[in-house]
Amino acid sequence: MKRCDCLIIGGGIIGLTLAREWLRRYPKSRMVVLEKEATSVAHGTGRNSGVVHSGIYYSEGSLRAQLCVSGARKMLDYVDAHELWSDRCGKLLVPPSESSLDSMEILLERGLVNGVEIHRITGQEALELEPRVNTQFDQALYVPITSVVNPKQVAENVRRDVVNLGATIHYQTPATAIDARRGTVQTRMGTFEAGTVINAAGLFADRVAEQAGLTTQYSFQPFKGKYWKHKDPDFSMQRLVYPVPDLNLPFLGVHSAHNQQGEVYFGPSSTPVIGRENYQGLDGVTLRDGLSLTASLIGKFLKNTNGLRTLSMREMKLMRLQGVCRELSKIITGVEAQNLERSLVKVGIRSQIFDAKTQHLVNDFVVVPDERVIHILNAISPAFTASFAFAEYILDTLEQ
Ligand SMILES: Cc1cc2nc3c(=O)[nH]c(=O)nc-3n(C[C@H](O)[C@H](O)[C@H](O)COP(=O)(O)OP(=O)(O)OC[C@H]3O[C@@H](n4cnc5c(N)ncnc54)[C@H](O)[C@@H]3O)c2cc1C
Repeated sequence: MKRCDCLIIGGGIIGLTLAREWLRRYPKSRMVVLEKEATSVAHGTGRNSGVVHSGIYYSEGSLRAQLCVSGARKMLDYVDAHELWSDRCGKLLVPPSESSLDSMEILLERGLVNGVEIHRITGQEALELEPRVNTQFDQALYVPITSVVNPKQVAENVRRDVVNLGATIHYQTPATAIDARRGTVQTRMGTFEAGTVINAAGLFADRVAEQAGLTTQYSFQPFKGKYWKHKDPDFSMQRLVYPVPDLNLPFLGVHSAHNQQGEVYFGPSSTPVIGRENYQGLDGVTLRDGLSLTASLIGKFLKNTNGLRTLSMREMKLMRLQGVCRELSKIITGVEAQNLERSLVKVGIRSQIFDAKTQHLVNDFVVVPDERVIHILNAISPAFTASFAFAEYILDTLEQ
């Protein structure tokens, strides 16, 4: 039996920032991180838009509002302190339809309540900030703090911090069985016993929770996010441009995203899928998930639970490049189908859970303590932005 003070299951950005924060608070303690893949960026952490969100989307009092606002500042301070890449480009939120004007007012209100700097601007002002923006309704919201970082670079830097602080990270070492009462975790390397176990397993967090004996009202519903790349290397955008989203769903809509290499992408889609790591074809689809997710999707589709049928129909339009351009043209001008190609490498899956009690996709982070284990469920966007603040929140809660 190997003993440690804290063992974290999952070496993505949530697991890594937690390990870092723990060791900053308790430098003499023994910390072990288990990661089933060979790197920390195989899943959500390495497959997101890299956007440091401001916190305007989330309802007052939600964990996402609280941790995104403070997390964005901490993320930007971290990249500055470590001289990592960032683009402080700001973001325009553009109404894609007349019916989204009311949602724009709600977002403006939420942003102000959450303490985010946000401006209502005219179409002309929006064009001065980003000449490619569609100003059909002559108004937009401008959020200066929204930025872009390189998520793989950030994760690699935090990984190095964690190792320098004394943690042991075991890659290619999945946790296979957990006893929540005794704090034991089985792996191919033997059994670990920890004072505290933290489940930060992202797309598998619900499965790890189940292994640890936790029963909840939640089920897992993965959504794939595909991106389309602009093929012209000279095409650039000065600001991020997002649609005002459907506030009934936890997705932000197809938007622009650029990276450190200067490439411009559009996405992500929000397609319901039947596998947790189903990035291509039927890869990552297991018999168990395939059967249960297909059955639950058919049920939700027929009843249009939480607007999932409406969402799926909308997603169908993104199957063709013309459909992607039509969607984009509501917020960005001059993107032609012949300039776009579907990216096979930039595709991510959201670790989204569904609440059987409310019959809704869960719109907030969920943290469930049970015996010696803390389960982090639903680490959906903006968990990357929020990660440093999220780590502090979890450890503050533990200390209390
Ligand atoms: C398409 C897309 C775009 C996004 N865009 C943004 C954005 O712009 N800004 C933002 O803030 N957020 C964004 N997000 C959300 C963000 O990427 C995630 O919330 C964040 O990466 C979650 O981090 P994580 O550490 O929980 O997950 P992960 O990075 O998935 O890490 C979990 C790790 O646990 C490991 N694991 C699983 N099971 C086990 C086991 N049994 N034993 C050991 N290890 C295990 C996995 O291999 C994985 O590496 C986006 C997400 C997607 C899908």
